[in-house]
Amino acid sequence: MFESLSDRLSGVFDRLTKQGALSEDDVKTALREVRVALLEADVSLPVARDFIKKVQEQATGQSVTKSVTPGQQVVKIVHDALIEVLTGEGEPGALKIDNPPAPILMVGLQGGGKTTTTAKLAKRLKEKDGKRVLMASLDVYRPAAMDQLAILGTQVGVDTLPIVPGQKPVDIAKRAKQQATMGGYDVYMLDTAGRLHIDEVLMDEVEQVSKVVTPRETLLVVDGLTGQVAVEVAQEFDDKVGISGVVLTRMDGDGRGGAALSMRAVTGKPIRYVGLGEKMDALETFEPERIAGRILG
Ligand code: GDP
Repeated sequence: MFESLSDRLSGVFDRLTKQGALSEDDVKTALREVRVALLEADVSLPVARDFIKKVQEQATGQSVTKSVTPGQQVVKIVHDALIEVLTGEGEPGALKIDNPPAPILMVGLQGGGKTTTTAKLAKRLKEKDGKRVLMASLDVYRPAAMDQLAILGTQVGVDTLPIVPGQKPVDIAKRAKQQATMGGYDVYMLDTAGRLHIDEVLMDEVEQVSKVVTPRETLLVVDGLTGQVAVEVAQEFDDKVGISGVVLTRMDGDGRGGAALSMRAVTGKPIRYVGLGEKMDALETFEPERIAGRILG
């Protein structure tokens, strides 16, 4: 991930840092290249434009061009601006899972990695935070998805709600809530059904489930390789059902990384975790510092 962006930027910055003095034109030319690199990484146009504007304002000031190491100053400004665009306003923070049993609703399109991420996150909550977790699949359309969650549950040592064929998603959600309360669980995670495309039925269903359990967190799981599409999907889910955060999957792939850079700025929602592989421990908290460092090489 970010490799091509990182290559492009390190080329630009290498040239800048090798130069002794920098004119405003040098900075402008470099930033034009940064803009192209961002767009090629599938960062959305308004985000790239704002980003460059912000950097330009700071980098063309007297203090930069007159400084002893102007190139490095520019790189630092870009670095800080990257962190800002990745972080946005407010605290990304930990999940709100005090006050047990805390419901976490997992939403997203089919194939985005929702079921895998549900199990990865459950494992993490159990092992890192010492939480007792219950998982339930609400995917009544694909019995294989229910079985998949049960299998993953066994694999990671997290309980799953027994499958009762013929139940509606809302009823499964109620049963999960009841079992989580009676069983003394700290968290119960609801893996909702996904569709290939966003449709009314999917959204209505998520909305109904959401009303029944009042989730503490509604996490959208979305394929990071899909770039701006991932950002559009997040925006639509947020408009219709309200999400509290995003998990970007497949960030181990050779995607261009634009989704990560645009997500916060476009949707206002924090990226909470990134998926970095198919294995059950391939889930990391999203750390803007590390991503910015990786982009700048
Ligand atoms: P769902 O339909 O959204 O529930 O998607 P699944 O959880 O079934 O995932 C679909 C496929 O993507 C599976 O083969 C997963 O192993 C794979 N997958 C999920 N997350 C990641 C990730 O972060 N990286 C990679 N490389 N594969 C992933």
